Amino acid sequence: MRATQLFAPTLREAPKDAELVSHRLLLRGGFIRPLASGVYSYLPLGLKVLGKISQILREEMERIGGNEFLLPALFPRELLEESGRDKVDVLFHVKEHDYFLGFTHEEVLTDIVRADVQSYKQLPLLAYQIQTKFRNEPRPRGGLIRGREFLMLDAYSFDRDAASAERAYAKVRGAFQRMFDRCGLASLSVQADSGAIGGSQSEEFMVLSDDGEDTVLRCDVTGYAANAERCEAIPAPAEDPNAPVPPMEQVATPGVTTIEDVSRFLSVPPTRLIKTLVVVAPDGEPTVVLVRGDRELNDAKLARHLGGPSPLADAATVARVTRAPVGFAGPVGLAQGTRVIADREVATVRDGVTGANATDAHLVHVLPGRDFPTPELTDLRTAVAGDVSPADPDGRLYEQHGIEVGHVFNFGTKYTQAMGATFNDEDGAIRPIFGGSYGVGVSRTMAAAVEQHHDADGIIWPVALAPFEAVVILTGIRDEAQPQAAESLYAGLRAAGVDALLDDRDERPGVKFKDWDLIGIPVQIVVGKSLAEGNVEVSLRRDKKQREAVPRGDAAAHVAALVRQLKAEV
Ligand code: ATP
Ligand code: MG
Repeated sequence: MRATQLFAPTLREAPKDAELVSHRLLLRGGFIRPLASGVYSYLPLGLKVLGKISQILREEMERIGGNEFLLPALFPRELLEESGRDKVDVLFHVKEHDYFLGFTHEEVLTDIVRADVQSYKQLPLLAYQIQTKFRNEPRPRGGLIRGREFLMLDAYSFDRDAASAERAYAKVRGAFQRMFDRCGLASLSVQADSGAIGGSQSEEFMVLSDDGEDTVLRCDVTGYAANAERCEAIPAPAEDPNAPVPPMEQVATPGVTTIEDVSRFLSVPPTRLIKTLVVVAPDGEPTVVLVRGDRELNDAKLARHLGGPSPLADAATVARVTRAPVGFAGPVGLAQGTRVIADREVATVRDGVTGANATDAHLVHVLPGRDFPTPELTDLRTAVAGDVSPADPDGRLYEQHGIEVGHVFNFGTKYTQAMGATFNDEDGAIRPIFGGSYGVGVSRTMAAAVEQHHDADGIIWPVALAPFEAVVILTGIRDEAQPQAAESLYAGLRAAGVDALLDDRDERPGVKFKDWDLIGIPVQIVVGKSLAEGNVEVSLRRDKKQREAVPRGDAAAHVAALVRQLKAEV
């Protein structure tokens, strides 16, 4: 490809609303253009990067026996009604709700499998596709990081039994790890919540980045890593487990409702407050939830414990359950039969403070188990850095940030049972098929690569993802010898198997250097003044100051070797 033919409009400045580095650099480098919020066009350079990522993903899926499909993006409503996912809030509706735009394809694949797989002999089956997904994200952000339309590799496994499903999960997990390694990305797999897809086993792949929106907690002893949404929270021990607790007492706290205000008003640290929330469980029953004052209730853990999303109750329900306005609820003296669940740590609070279930009043010197019945105890709070590690009692958790680029789920028979996908086993019995599903955000991976690999001047693509491996920069287009030397080097590079680009534009050298630093092609070769001594200048984008003069006749072989060396680094 020649720069005179390439459509790569670079920008000096990025739009002000582009906050993430990857968003700014992909816009400025001419990789993408916005059409609407969370909707982007891929320009030729962007498409080339997507193609390189996709090729790596295909090779790794083929390696573990994946069959490539291309499934429809348009789903008839009836299909999602079968799994109950027609109500999912990220769905885009088409034609008065007769159709949806595809957001993930479990149901479509399961529909094929239930019709065409009858026998154990047809299992296991591993299917995948690389295709556009549509999700009506409430807050698209960061360009390709969170789009409403994005490219995903999604894979689905179908197996005879749980053991075989686990083997499939492990295989895909391994393939994903190899994909990110081959892409030149430092990634980490972490324990994850299975969220809307449901199921038991689930891990996410994170590309580590300080600007990543996911928080990962890691154990400093074992290396155990979990998404903070999911990480088990180990209760802090009681401060002074044997100190006597005076009798409980009601005190006036007029208009004092928040944890901070109560803590200040009564001069009691938030760690001794018991926060009381009223939620509505999936069965419609109001349920009282307790966590220590300084802790955050984890919605995902609560949902897992109660069997589904359990939003906060409205003020009227709070008043009915606690007989007090919001801000004064507490676990003492609740109506008989009220379900109360508490984070395990609440049991370690001594001499606590809670709302008194009366307007403008709190209770002090509260001792759980003495002043109110010990509630159902479970893990309900969000773990934080500094907590004891769930993987090792001597370990402590520390925090890192990452971008979720992949997700693997083993969901058992959740979809196959709902949709009647069964098979005849060897013994003649009809059994449900076990399933797993797996996704890599292809377009998000492109952005994550930029987040991890850039400097003040632009992108520094890992060679495996770069739109071109090398660029020949011709600086003296009107010089007698330079154009011809650049052409022959360009031809030589292509003959040597290097994915090369020739910058034959009639532009000042400074403009060209700025563009290629921004676009981030790994190897730059300047054909310029030093040609008079028979040399071209070769440098790596990541180390621009290290320019090496190479005799023009050796340059193609030299660059081919350099590219091979870069590829071998991963
Ligand atoms: P998130 O938690 O970021 O919203 P998710 O957990 O809903 O994502 P999955 O259903 O696990 O997403 O999708 C598989 C992969 O697809 C994700 O790991 C991510 O890389 C990618 N992905 C998901 N949503 C988006 C999006 N809106 N834009 C770009 N990529 C996405
Ligand atoms: Mg996910």
